[in-house]
Amino acid sequence: MLNLSSLKKLQEARAKLHTSQKIAVLTGAGISQESGIPTFRGQGGLWREYRAEDLATPEAYARDPLLVWEWYQMRFHTVLRAEPNSAHYALAELEKTKDLILVSQNVDGLHKRAGSSRILELHGNITLSRCERCLHLDELKENFSLPPFCSRCHARARPNVVWFGEALPQAIFGQAVEAFHNAELALVIGTSAVVEPAASLALLAKEQGAYLIEINPEPTPLSPLVNFSLMTTASQGMQLLLGK
Ligand SMILES: [Zn+2]
Repeated sequence: MLNLSSLKKLQEARAKLHTSQKIAVLTGAGISQESGIPTFRGQGGLWREYRAEDLATPEAYARDPLLVWEWYQMRFHTVLRAEPNSAHYALAELEKTKDLILVSQNVDGLHKRAGSSRILELHGNITLSRCERCLHLDELKENFSLPPFCSRCHARARPNVVWFGEALPQAIFGQAVEAFHNAELALVIGTSAVVEPAASLALLAKEQGAYLIEINPEPTPLSPLVNFSLMTTASQGMQLLLGK
């Protein structure tokens, strides 16, 4: 529960949220955990059960494309069965009254399904395949066959995600940097802020004078640097912050 000094800080954070127009948000796996999407490194995380180098690198795909696709197909089906949770919906709602840009490390597409429209997906989206020849994106159907082929040029398509060892999509990352650079208030939700560029985006906002809020159940390397840290789940944190 909140003690008196953190209650005062919460009131300050709510007031800042109320008066700020330009808002940049960064979300990570923690926000989708409550929707039943496994995280990567935490308890029950995917990298406890699977080896990233076998499944999520360009080398793994070159070696065994069907194995990699089977793993993404399994995760795609998990996402299809999942529903956005109240934290996703709260962010979509906030976008209606603020100049809000949502930057996500998640590949599950749940922000879009919750109604957010200004989304920058840093790591791609597993509901799409990307042509290896012409880069065309196709929406995956529930029972897609492996491997999928491009609807435009019929070449083989790969999962539309950023693998370990690959660069982030430059144009999207550039827009994320701009959003955090210009933000009056920045909100970091459900990410350990260890994996770059999470930390650098938040710190950029802070350097420019933004008010920085973190929502995460455990302390992160970012926690000592933020204006206000809500150590709770994404849904509870958003509820507290919005005062609902
Ligand atoms: Zn193509």
